Amino acid sequence: MSVVEIKSSQEAIALEDKHGAHNYHPLPVVLKKGDGVFVWDVEDKKYYDFLSAYSAVNQGHCHPRIVGAMTKQAETLTLTSRAFHNDVLGKYEKFATEYFGFDKLLPMNTGAEAVETAIKICRKWAYEKKGIKENEAEIIVAENNFHGRTTTVISFSNDEGARKNFGPYTPGFLKIAYDDLDALEKTLSKNKNIAGFLVEPIQGEAGVYVPSEGYLQKAKALCEKHNVLFIADEIQTGIARTGKLLAVDHENVKPDIVTLGKAISGGVYPVSAVLANNEVMDVIQPGQHGSTFGGNPVACEVAIAALQVIKEENLADNAEKMGELFRAEINKYIASSKVVNLVRGKGLLNAIVINDSEESSTAWDICMALKENGLLAKPTHGNIIRFAPPLVITKEEIMDCVSIIVKTLRTFEDKI
Ligand SMILES: *Cc1c(COP(=O)(O)O)cnc(C)c1O
Repeated sequence: MSVVEIKSSQEAIALEDKHGAHNYHPLPVVLKKGDGVFVWDVEDKKYYDFLSAYSAVNQGHCHPRIVGAMTKQAETLTLTSRAFHNDVLGKYEKFATEYFGFDKLLPMNTGAEAVETAIKICRKWAYEKKGIKENEAEIIVAENNFHGRTTTVISFSNDEGARKNFGPYTPGFLKIAYDDLDALEKTLSKNKNIAGFLVEPIQGEAGVYVPSEGYLQKAKALCEKHNVLFIADEIQTGIARTGKLLAVDHENVKPDIVTLGKAISGGVYPVSAVLANNEVMDVIQPGQHGSTFGGNPVACEVAIAALQVIKEENLADNAEKMGELFRAEINKYIASSKVVNLVRGKGLLNAIVINDSEESSTAWDICMALKENGLLAKPTHGNIIRFAPPLVITKEEIMDCVSIIVKTLRTFEDKI
């Protein structure tokens, strides 16, 4: 049984098509190398990465500090399971809890696992601390949410593709409109069995929907009033992406539970985490939750390095400044554009809305043309294109990217 050598992008795509499950529809580009804001394909064409692996690579591709931490630990000790202690987990938990200002951290591997963990903690808290009758707890979620792909998480999605024919669904979730405080207040007042409100501070996958100013703060206050846990899913918005360490920091909100993933490892290793204070986290006792790989020494060293890079390189500040510049420049173009309706976002989590239907191929075609011009981005929900470069991007690079984007969009002005 030999392993083939990939010699062309076409060949790599054909192999995936034949031997891999068809659970994604990627842009037809095959990447082989990354460095900072750049990636290279098999034919050595260089691109700006404007997706950053869905905001996992905030620190830039192959950050030497993070990769160094990983390789050093990988040569020493990789996995013990939690049956034994390892000499990195405690050090990481102290560092990360002080970094984010919570009492405790529960380590997992993927974002969906962090969300599942938060749901379990929230339910247990509801029965043991709030006094809700067993099996009756409800968690409020927002319409058009994205929290991952597990059976429970897709149970409260309203994306047909994500849900259809994966039932029966996990009960215990109430869906309300996003950015709608009245809906939240009504649901909280009507129902005595609410345990938590799970929300993305900015809805990323839905198309970078930024809620009205004050929404998060008022939602948190309503949760407090009704003794309900406010759970912020910061897996995409967290770790400096939106110009602050966490997106809730824009409104000085302190969630009861925070889920983190993606950039907590800088994209070099699957690491996720749930943060909470003692009165919430202590409902979880031995045997009630876990993961073979969660909290392994490699993950812990990687996460420490990835978080240090965020602070040392002032990536939150840079995201804020570069994001403002990016939106200002794109807005200049939009003023006279028929193709783009608007640009929205915070920090370096932005999206443009294309003036065409969700079913049209225009956004996809624009992404294909951007690729030809050396910039990689992907449509979300048909007519929205997300722009989320690594946060290490410089002003010169942003301006270069703006000119690539504008040049590309111009070629679509007569086609629409
Ligand atoms: C990506 C994402 C997840 C899921 O993370 P995975 O690592 O893909 O399981 C959950 N919530 C949000 C907000 C995300 O963006």
